Amino acid sequence: MRFLFLFIFIVSCNVDNNLSHIDKRANEILSSLSLEDKVGQMTQINLTVIAKGPNKWSSSFPMEIDSKKAKKALVDFKVGSVLNTINNTAQKPETWFNTISDIQDFAMNDTESKIPVIYGIDAIHGTTYTDGATMFPQQITTAASWNPENAYNMALVCAYETRASSIPWNFSPVLDLGIDPRFSRQFETFGEDPLLVERFGVEMIKGYQGLNNDISNKYSVAACMKHFVGYHATISGKDRTPAYIPDNVLSEFHIEPFKKAIEAGAKTVMINSGLINGVPVHASYELMINVLRNDLGFEGVILTDWEDIRKLHDRDKVAKTQKEAVKMAINAGIDMSMVPYEYEKFIKDLLSLVREGEVSEARIDDAVLRILKLKLELDLFENPVTNYKDYDDFGSKKHHQLAYKAASESITLLKNEDKTLPITGKPKILVVGPNGNNMRTLNGAWSYSWQGDLTDRFAGDYNTIYEAISNEYGKNNVKYVSGVSYKEGGAYYEMVEDDLELALKEAKKSDYVILCLGESTYTEKPGDLNDLNLHELQLKLAKKIAQSGKPIILILNLGRPRLISDIEPLMSSVVNVYLPGNFGGDALASILSGKVNPSGKLPYTYPLYPNSLLPYYYKPSEVQNNAQGAYNYVGEVNNLYDFGFGLSYSDFKYSNFAINKDTLNMSDTINIGVFVTNESEIDGYETVQLYSSDLYASITPDIKRLRDFNKVLIKAGETKRLTFSLPVSELQFYNIYNEPVVEEGRFKISINDFSDEIYVK
Ligand code: BGC
Repeated sequence: MRFLFLFIFIVSCNVDNNLSHIDKRANEILSSLSLEDKVGQMTQINLTVIAKGPNKWSSSFPMEIDSKKAKKALVDFKVGSVLNTINNTAQKPETWFNTISDIQDFAMNDTESKIPVIYGIDAIHGTTYTDGATMFPQQITTAASWNPENAYNMALVCAYETRASSIPWNFSPVLDLGIDPRFSRQFETFGEDPLLVERFGVEMIKGYQGLNNDISNKYSVAACMKHFVGYHATISGKDRTPAYIPDNVLSEFHIEPFKKAIEAGAKTVMINSGLINGVPVHASYELMINVLRNDLGFEGVILTDWEDIRKLHDRDKVAKTQKEAVKMAINAGIDMSMVPYEYEKFIKDLLSLVREGEVSEARIDDAVLRILKLKLELDLFENPVTNYKDYDDFGSKKHHQLAYKAASESITLLKNEDKTLPITGKPKILVVGPNGNNMRTLNGAWSYSWQGDLTDRFAGDYNTIYEAISNEYGKNNVKYVSGVSYKEGGAYYEMVEDDLELALKEAKKSDYVILCLGESTYTEKPGDLNDLNLHELQLKLAKKIAQSGKPIILILNLGRPRLISDIEPLMSSVVNVYLPGNFGGDALASILSGKVNPSGKLPYTYPLYPNSLLPYYYKPSEVQNNAQGAYNYVGEVNNLYDFGFGLSYSDFKYSNFAINKDTLNMSDTINIGVFVTNESEIDGYETVQLYSSDLYASITPDIKRLRDFNKVLIKAGETKRLTFSLPVSELQFYNIYNEPVVEEGRFKISINDFSDEIYVK
């Protein structure tokens, strides 16, 4: 017996020795906690629960902590995490500092356990809820730059400014695949291609958490990958509705970017609020434990999305009571519940489930240990609040320049008949349309408020499209009329007709018309869409303006590709600015005038018809009839503009495409080279894209898949040689048994209009 004790002692000593300092401290703290302390740590509440004023989404109260409510939640119920803002509105850094200092006082001075609260926020394209923060382009825009460095810069600045707002945890990046143009959150993604999502997503993690993932550093935040997994692939195209995704498709397209972000060290993850194959993801042991923990080796904190535990009962009807919903979610792997209102009920339910043996204390310990480690890694025990006074670069010129750079590299020129653009000299310009003179539509949702409806109040110092064009061409040469407008205070899709005749009259007096159409702001459920066409009043405005006979430059300012097929032929040029942020107007003006040569490329397929909504990696049977109506398997699907497409003011010519070998083994690397010449007199950036097509496979192969890309500056007249090294293993797909395989056979490798076949054996 004595020998057994000695053995156990030696083994546990070894294990102990291997634990890092943080692991040790977390274990020590854990062993000192009561069950009530632990369950409190697993609870996240909305700030309104402990703030002055009503516990409602918005009210007119200033941001201040209500001592009585805070004592109840943080001291009596030992709640360990708080999120969100007050009144759904951005606050000054100083207000954040005071509020979070007050919260930490309760948590660290008035409780026995003295555990700091972890505050979390949605800082989506810059620090959303802080007045004066730098607003970058949204993720979809950043992806259009095809330069992942812009994602890194955005995250780096956002981490800095979020810490300057005393907040250490950011619910970003979105690693969902933006596969559906109907979906209200497509703009929050890096587009429809998993490789783009992966490359940009990893840079975001690096930017948020610092290059060595040292989040104790006061300039870094803990990232939160979201929303694991398959969130956007719904049948209806509407938010939080059912998705049906086979396991192999889930692995290949949806899980892969999370896998790479986990390898990059992402600390936390938020779960998909929807359901896959009938199972709400918050109740899926398979996805949270088997896939996320066991297959992907994720060790960080698993957080629910908003109210998603109770939705297992209230919405999805898989739990007969709310208490059963708690049991399901916690046993399926949830570590922390974004309750966020009725926390007493969640806590009481979980406590009694543990006492009744329905949830094991080991599961609770597992969750709390991860939460404690996160708090220790963020150094919250020593430095529970960062102070805005230590952040001189908050909202600085330096940060603004990075946001401008990202916007200017993303804006995508889609059509330029007769080289209408750039517009040089000082011609008379009419800016017209509902998106021409406001900051709200440039930023999109998650800007100063959830739905982005308060932006014009906060972003008055930045330039709208009209203001930026006036600065570029001179105030006397540029005029703005709305034509049609978004209904004030209305839903994002409600519009009113202003004065179409006036718009036409002014168009006739000008040399160029800059027609700014698109969408107002939305996200999540409020952004659900019934008709992908651009609003009929906007189409009417475009047709009216076209009667002027003047060259029209259509500016698309939208969160998803709304159909413009009816009016596109009437336009001389088309420029997609997506949601470019506070510097989008300036970046656009520089592109229109030719100071900046456009270099963005679409990170999604721009559809032509409402019933043809396919990503570029469709299956061969999707091919439509050719012009003669014959079904020939070699036609094309009908898109307005392809994924990866975007024009430049330079003319690039590709030549000398070559592959080093035509027969390769599974362990080989394919070396591909191509020359690109800038045949114009303007320096320009070109994004060279490498695709592969598996010609025959055990499951029908995709038409093609992006395998690599490289955005390079090619000077006027210069020729650059680009090379790619593609391991054969990266040609893999997930077969019907959900195994990653490269099957023997022929593959086509292509760049631009060149391609060659290889044989893999
Ligand atoms: C959204 C998440 C967000 C959370 C907290 C949810 O409704 O789906 O993306 O992080 O709210 O605000």
